[in-house]
Amino acid sequence: MRALPDPARLADGIRAGDRAVLARAITLIESTRPDHQAVARDLVQRLLPQTGRAIRIGITGVPGAGKSTTIDTFGSNLTAAGHRVAVLAVDPSSSRTGGSILGDKTRMARLSVDANAFVRPSPSSGTLGGVAARTRETMLLCEAAGFDVILVETVGVGQSETAVADMTDLFLVLMLPGAGDELQGIKKGILELADIIAVNKADGDGLRRARAAAAEYRAALHIMAPRSAVWAPPVMTISGLANEGLDTLWEQIGAFRAKTGASGDFEARRRAQGVKWMWAMLQDRFTGRLKRDPKLKARLPAIEADVAAGRLSALVAADEIATVLGL
Ligand code: GDP
Repeated sequence: MRALPDPARLADGIRAGDRAVLARAITLIESTRPDHQAVARDLVQRLLPQTGRAIRIGITGVPGAGKSTTIDTFGSNLTAAGHRVAVLAVDPSSSRTGGSILGDKTRMARLSVDANAFVRPSPSSGTLGGVAARTRETMLLCEAAGFDVILVETVGVGQSETAVADMTDLFLVLMLPGAGDELQGIKKGILELADIIAVNKADGDGLRRARAAAAEYRAALHIMAPRSAVWAPPVMTISGLANEGLDTLWEQIGAFRAKTGASGDFEARRRAQGVKWMWAMLQDRFTGRLKRDPKLKARLPAIEADVAAGRLSALVAADEIATVLGL
């Protein structure tokens, strides 16, 4: 067996911006081995003073909305302007399918060969909580390695958006053009998380429809309580493919940073996120331990079956489990 890596040396390598060391460290973060996890925790703690300087941007959109195209173009614009861009992903479905689509290097042809970019697919095993926690730690390592723009991609279904919104400063929602009917299908929850909405594919034949869709989203947002008191989420049109509107998008991100920074919202959101993550991780650990508890392990299948069949109320079942555990 190979000796465990030394966290102090890994930390030095990451601070020096060594990509090979960064990749190795991320592998440790993603490992399920307890000894690897211990090294990873030590490493993140050591690097904490070097984190927090990046702008953390979450990006969501349904499959086909143009996330990879837009991230490839937007990220390339940013590296051309002197930024260092890391692209990470949260894709909980990868634990079922065994393959990760999001953050796949082949989807971002330019960025994946860009010396000032780092593209990392979603961790491919574990619960959503586990996948998100590992992505968050990876984000911290990337910040310590000097990346100043972190893009965290997630697909526009299920709970993963909330997890990504909880680890980023700004949440960007990519929408497809198409008015009326499609708007009905948009989950209100997504709009509530959005700090910026960008209707993509505003090019060629799609331009008119994209503008119409943007107008509808503006109207929809109007009747919703904004996420921040100092920032009304703008709705813009962009084309990831034609590289249009992406300069304006970056300006809006800067305006968001400046406004929420001045009001204190920016730091407040980060502080709240830190505490929320602590609880999320604690919960994950407890659930893990609970499920492995030998006393409970023997009883759980029967209790679950009883709840599923409606013979036992969930409340009574939870009581029973707590009793078995002596809680
Ligand atoms: P993702 O599933 O959200 O990552 O979407 P992709 O980036 O893979 O894009 C899905 C399809 O839409 C691809 O065929 C892209 O070429 C196309 N597409 C993406 N962005 C644009 C755009 O701005 N304009 C147009 N016309 N097509 C786009």
